[in-house]
Amino acid sequence: MPHIAVVGSGPSGVYTAQGLVGQGRVPDVRVDVLDRLPCPYGLVRYGVAPDHEKIKSLQNNLRAVLEDERVRFLGGVEIGPALPPAKLLELYDAVVYCVGAAADRRLGVPGEDLPGSWSATDFVAWYSAHPDAIESGFVRGVRTAVAIGVGNVSVDVTRMLARGVPELLPTDMPRAALDTLAASEVRDVHMVGRRGPSQARFTTKELRELGGLPDTEVLVDERELALDPLYADPSALPAAQRRNVEVLRGWAAEPPRGARRRIHLRFYLRPAELLAGDDGRVAGVRFERTRPDGHGGATGTGLFEEIGAELVLRSVGYRGVPMEGLPFDESSGTVPHEAGRVLRDARVAPGEYVAGWIKRGPTGVIGTNRPCAKETVASLLDDAPALVRGGGATRDPLSGLIAAGARPVQWDGWRAIERAEAELGRGLGRGSVKIPDWEGLLGAARGS
Ligand code: NAP
Repeated sequence: MPHIAVVGSGPSGVYTAQGLVGQGRVPDVRVDVLDRLPCPYGLVRYGVAPDHEKIKSLQNNLRAVLEDERVRFLGGVEIGPALPPAKLLELYDAVVYCVGAAADRRLGVPGEDLPGSWSATDFVAWYSAHPDAIESGFVRGVRTAVAIGVGNVSVDVTRMLARGVPELLPTDMPRAALDTLAASEVRDVHMVGRRGPSQARFTTKELRELGGLPDTEVLVDERELALDPLYADPSALPAAQRRNVEVLRGWAAEPPRGARRRIHLRFYLRPAELLAGDDGRVAGVRFERTRPDGHGGATGTGLFEEIGAELVLRSVGYRGVPMEGLPFDESSGTVPHEAGRVLRDARVAPGEYVAGWIKRGPTGVIGTNRPCAKETVASLLDDAPALVRGGGATRDPLSGLIAAGARPVQWDGWRAIERAEAELGRGLGRGSVKIPDWEGLLGAARGS
């Protein structure tokens, strides 16, 4: 009975598990889905914005897979020095790494690390109650914020900065983040792209949502949009980009309404430096005006513009993190692979696979992980006859994990966390509210 470990319980890991137990080629496959956290679902729990309840409800589909009798969730298990990839390969017939891209890309400009400058991933982790999140207060004393980058994460953080309490109260946002955002004095959020509107990475549905926020208006300067040669006639653009341009064009035509909060969508400005105030904290961003280079990129003009801000969120994409004992390509931030088979020194490493962002880089929406996992599962099944576990093939790998010092949180433990979160919410007069720290999560999981 082949026993396979999937490392990571986000969408790519769960879709991989689903593919492995749902196929008919290799009978009786068993899958353990391991996660460093005691909670499953990866970025669906800790990345999808709390007000995106429909996307969050995908957890129900992922749950059905993790509750399959051939699948076992083992949370709180970290692959690292005590439990390296080589050890996993002794315990399992094959291992599929679905560990995502946990770090953020750097801007590489002076002032990037000033107090008050955060990666969007730090901010997202905070309002999502990730147990490793930093509690910095983020918006305290902030009236103006800048979000650098025009992808969907930038849209998420911009929207969360503009949201009011009535819209956040029904979400599972942790108490401290909700209280802080409730007291927020943020009035202006500038979301800034280094290229033009036709090259922005956000999707139209997410973009449009900004226009529907209560007490908030979206301001776009027609002249800045018109720097884009495709603005005047977007018909040559692919449908998704054309729709984005049309939405932006609509906003540019609207006069300001004097709403309580303003979202300024800016283009053709690339960050040159984050500026410090007298208190040593970030006070703004110096941007260089760019113009189209005729090849889809943008080039500097030598003209500069400063936007004052007490909070800067750098939202320029995620990046994979190397795992000791696994090969890593620094330039792409991914594990080298061939159709999902891990490559060590350009050779296939038997029994080791990747899927999701650590395989293809941090792009695409949740559903993109389905075909990605499918390809990896097909490779693994092709290889299945040759995958023989080293040593104790008849032993349950769980005993090996425990012998290596792991104390896995199994499905019952996760269900106990869910119950504790429901109870926490009830006490606050809200729906389920997330527990934001390790102690609380492990305490709930282990019944203390
Ligand atoms: P992204 O889509 O790759 O966008 C990154 C943005 O940062 C781009 O605008 C990029 O501009 C800009 N950028 C990169 N380096 C820069 C630099 N040095 N200076 C200034 N700007 C820079 O990344 P993301 O927003 O983190 O999203 C990651 C993935 O998750 C995406 O596939 C996204 O669609 C997905 N996601 C989806 C949702 C949703 O469906 N609701 C929500 C969140 C995330 P250039 O284009 O010029 O490089």
